Amino acid sequence: MNETISYHAFGKAMLAGGPDTAGAWIVTDAPTLAKFGLGMVHPGGENPKPHVADGYLIEAQTLDELAAKTGTDPRALAASIADINAAAEKGEDTSFGRGGSPYQRNNGDPTVAPNPTLGRIATAPFYAVRLQPADIGTAQGLRGDTHARLLRDDDSVIGGLYAVGNDLHSIMGGTYPGPGITLGPGLVFGAIAGRHAAARSHQEKGQTRAA
Ligand SMILES: Cc1cc2nc3c(=O)[nH]c(=O)nc-3n(C[C@H](O)[C@H](O)[C@H](O)COP(=O)(O)OP(=O)(O)OC[C@H]3O[C@@H](n4cnc5c(N)ncnc54)[C@H](O)[C@@H]3O)c2cc1C
Repeated sequence: MNETISYHAFGKAMLAGGPDTAGAWIVTDAPTLAKFGLGMVHPGGENPKPHVADGYLIEAQTLDELAAKTGTDPRALAASIADINAAAEKGEDTSFGRGGSPYQRNNGDPTVAPNPTLGRIATAPFYAVRLQPADIGTAQGLRGDTHARLLRDDDSVIGGLYAVGNDLHSIMGGTYPGPGITLGPGLVFGAIAGRHAAARSHQEKGQTRAA
């Protein structure tokens, strides 16, 4: 699997493989952990020991030890690391196409050549973090209009009922074009709904006074 693509596509691929792929390990080595961090381990050389102590980060002096601690096949792990190291030397990942597009390479490390997304995993200790698919938001929800008011089946407006964020059907209609596509519309439609509700409230107060 190419982990440099969209995490939505990554999650779907994990689920598509059934129980065998619904849990995976992301593996790195000491210099890369120090530079980039891994999951909850912050980049820049954060002391990894507390994460090792609580079991989040698996640490091992050899790849065989890492395989034993993660319950993976040692030969498969060694072959996988040999593949990634060969791809790093060549600058091309023929197995999964990591770093195959300008978008992916833009997220890489510009100091790494020939492909900024492909670095070697070579210097002990080695580290692993378990990956599992999870929710980050929804891409579908309740149907609303341009003022974030909710609609009935016949498209009539339900007066005074607004929805935003995960509850409102995404303007992207279930797709994921890129980062920010849940928080962005959440903020925009939150402001739109707030303004509309305030205007409606003013209008109603005016009508009450006039009566
Ligand atoms: C790890 C992670 C990374 C993400 N990264 C990004 C990103 O980079 N860009 C991006 O755009 N989006 C990102 N998202 C998605 C984004 O954060 C969510 O889609 C967004 O926060 C949803 O906002 P919301 O207000 O609809 O819901 P929420 O933020 O879930 O708010 C719902 C609130 O309702 C409260 N609540 C629930 N039930 C009740 C109840 N019965 N009574 C009272 N309160 C209740 C909850 O406690 C919560 O505070 C990420 C999400 C995760 C988890």
